[in-house]
Amino acid sequence: MHEMSLVEGVRQLIEEAALRDGFTRVHSVRVEIGQLSGVERSAFEFCFDLAMQDSLAEGARLDIVATPGRGHCRQCGQESALAAVYDPCELCGACPVEVTGGTSMRVIDLEVE
Ligand SMILES: [Zn+2]
Repeated sequence: MHEMSLVEGVRQLIEEAALRDGFTRVHSVRVEIGQLSGVERSAFEFCFDLAMQDSLAEGARLDIVATPGRGHCRQCGQESALAAVYDPCELCGACPVEVTGGTSMRVIDLEVE
């Protein structure tokens, strides 16, 4: 599962941060998931709980911030919201639209002690 490798990346990032910053417990993890990133929220949540077992983030709360998709239209040159990668331009109906935002998944911050 795609989400599992992402979550393992998050765990690694947390462990590296713990070594660097000297914290021993993570209370919550805030993650940004773009609407066009292909990451399924429920799968991500499920994998998160599994991957954090026996780590310093075991039982940590997961806050997911969903960022909307953005696209740049080659036809009218405008930027607009994009709900799906293959959607036409919201403004002029042309497609395809070049995806410019909402494709990433990243850790925003951690609440630690
Ligand atoms: Zn357009």
